[in-house]
Amino acid sequence: MSTQALVTEAPQTLRQQDWLTLANNLQLETGLFIDGRFVEARKGNRFDSLNPATGEVLASVAFGDESDVDRAVASAKQAWNGGHWRYMAPRSRMAVLMRLADLVEQNAGELALLETLDMGKPITDALTIDLPEVVSSIRFYAECIDKLEGAVTNTAAAALHLIQREPLGIVGAISPWNYPLLMATWKVAPALAAGNCVVLKPAQQAPLSCLRLAQLFIEAGGPPGVFNVVNGDGPVTGRALALHMDVAKISFTGSTAVGKQIMIYAGQSNLKRVALETGGKSPQIFMPDLEDLDAAVERAYGGIFDNAGQVCNAGSRLLVHRDLHDAFVEKFVERSRQAYRPGDPLNPATTLGPVVTRAHQQGVLAKIEQGLREGAQLVMGGGEPSGMEQGAYVSPTLFTGVEPGMSIARDEIFGPVAAVIPFEDEAEAIAIANDSIYGLAASVWTRDLKTAHRMVGALEAGVVWVNCFGDGDMTQPFGGYKQSGNTRDKSFECLLGYTQSKSAWFDLG
Ligand code: NAD
Repeated sequence: MSTQALVTEAPQTLRQQDWLTLANNLQLETGLFIDGRFVEARKGNRFDSLNPATGEVLASVAFGDESDVDRAVASAKQAWNGGHWRYMAPRSRMAVLMRLADLVEQNAGELALLETLDMGKPITDALTIDLPEVVSSIRFYAECIDKLEGAVTNTAAAALHLIQREPLGIVGAISPWNYPLLMATWKVAPALAAGNCVVLKPAQQAPLSCLRLAQLFIEAGGPPGVFNVVNGDGPVTGRALALHMDVAKISFTGSTAVGKQIMIYAGQSNLKRVALETGGKSPQIFMPDLEDLDAAVERAYGGIFDNAGQVCNAGSRLLVHRDLHDAFVEKFVERSRQAYRPGDPLNPATTLGPVVTRAHQQGVLAKIEQGLREGAQLVMGGGEPSGMEQGAYVSPTLFTGVEPGMSIARDEIFGPVAAVIPFEDEAEAIAIANDSIYGLAASVWTRDLKTAHRMVGALEAGVVWVNCFGDGDMTQPFGGYKQSGNTRDKSFECLLGYTQSKSAWFDLG
């Protein structure tokens, strides 16, 4: 079978050389996607998307300014007013999204390749984690469409009261680059399922895969104008979308600082709804009675080093009971050294890709320097892996002797940097864990059911994992407490967030 055929039929069998050949022959779509087709930006502006593994320009991509955002919102508004999508029979809308999921599955090899080239994640991760989750996300929300229900409330006989759920109108989605297609899909799929029209602004560091998704939506039978994509940067393109008077909701995933800005834009414009999924500094807590130290250590390093630490819920704070401390650190270093092989992300054996840009790499390295200056002990990593200088790589890094007040224990680094903080007892573990502006996720390792339940109750986090880390499926509401956000992605709860209730009171007297 040819490489071209294999990328559709069995992408997991491709070798590094095959991926390279495919990458060299890729036909990239780089326009804005408005009203069902690719168009140039009005002023012809473009920006370069770089491959962080090589530093080379991957594509020149259309950059949408305010007038392009206007054009995309106008197209979405026309589609909304036309009513075709929102009034489509639920099972028909479901069929379109099911076809979209099938098309994403059939094109998973190509989409995974776009992710790897654009933001550097290992091709095996893109194929086995990102793409299957994108597909299940679209299928989950397609399946939910005819499960949305209203209510008839208990009124006096002379009245009938209906509560119906309706879509909001035009949803603006602003997404990050760490899982470019998946983070966008967590917004676009429920928004479309609920009957809204969407304008998506992907992260400028990884603009390509979302363009393909929009194209596949049309191929799946989605009406033009219902799903538009405008690439560009945050201060111009994202801002224009968040300030737009015709956008009913902004669904944002990204940093806490930009999330705050999005709330200001909503206040400055039309009081649009704002759903935020923002940063994190998640604690992984290891109690002295945990059952299996090997399993705990394996999940501990996976929880911070996978995707080169560029995960919102990354378990960057390792709270380890003093009795376990030395054995834990020794195993962590020994095992994680074997687990993460830096290399060309197109090599299926690579387990550590570069971080997303050279600038981000420098930011992560600066945080490591700061940790050293503050007196933490570096026991592993701390710089760039040797021989990988052409790309933006950072070695998996472990600090011990970390005090809860140090910057490496407080700031989101968004790179492969873990900080071990020892503790004496449960109360101290909870106090350290909750001493953060963030509250996205946490984990607890213990064999005692009572300890587990007490700690689940005491932890200020939207997601708590017990004796695991990062597990879940589409039924799990995913989002943060405190400054980690104000909404939930995934789950039925998320779908409701793309609807509003209407009360209809009938006088039957
Ligand atoms: P970022 O905040 O820099 O950018 C996110 C998006 O916002 C991008 O599309 C960007 O172009 C846009 N943006 C930037 N400035 C803007 C502005 N002034 N107005 C409107 N839009 C603007 O974040 P990032 O670096 O792309 O992503 C990393 C961050 O995302 C981390 O903080 C991470 O924790 C967070 N994240 C959170 C979740 C979650 O579910 N809570 C998931 C993934 C990532």
